[in-house]
Amino acid sequence: MNKEKRYEILTRLRANDPNPTTELDFTSPFELLIAVLLSAQATDVSVNKATAKLFPIARTPDEMLKLGVDGVKQHIKTIGLFNSKAENTIKTCRILVEQHNSQIPENREALEALPGVGRKTANVVLNTAFGWPTIAVDTHIFRLSNRTRFAPGKDVVEVEKKLIKFVPKEFKVDVHHWFILHGRYVCTARRPKCGACIIEDLCEFKEKTD
Ligand code: SF4
Repeated sequence: MNKEKRYEILTRLRANDPNPTTELDFTSPFELLIAVLLSAQATDVSVNKATAKLFPIARTPDEMLKLGVDGVKQHIKTIGLFNSKAENTIKTCRILVEQHNSQIPENREALEALPGVGRKTANVVLNTAFGWPTIAVDTHIFRLSNRTRFAPGKDVVEVEKKLIKFVPKEFKVDVHHWFILHGRYVCTARRPKCGACIIEDLCEFKEKTD
């Protein structure tokens, strides 16, 4: 795909949604970190349902620690992998309290050192809580980047590197949200809604639907 097409795609996505953000509910960097940690292989809707009850009683790492693993489990048992997620939540909170003064570090290495936090989660937190131009490549972004040929790659790291390289500065902070939302609601995994897609004429996918 050429530079002009990429620019036009980003321009249209921005015009369609000038202030995009995550669909996870949060009111602080800490809540965002925990919500993203809980969202692995789970829908944002299911995470929001659980955190609506969890966050009012545990808004800080210290309060979460007081709940303990079993207390956290009680609130997140409707989410997949809740056992390991509860354990990682408590381990992460302990490190935040002991090593980071109960704050979320604005630092990739420190974030990725937290249990249950990988590159993708760190990218989301750096982007959405701190405004860094990072791009967390999830399943939706990976699919959309490959189908459209905007940033094709065989794995998420290759796609991430190409997106960082190809996306102009003015779009970098928001591109992650636009691609997730477009992939989730329009360029869906099973049957993309090409007939209703605002970038259909620019997309280079060979098997478009009506
Ligand atoms: S035209 Fe179809 S394949 Fe291309 S981005 Fe739109 S929905 Fe996805």
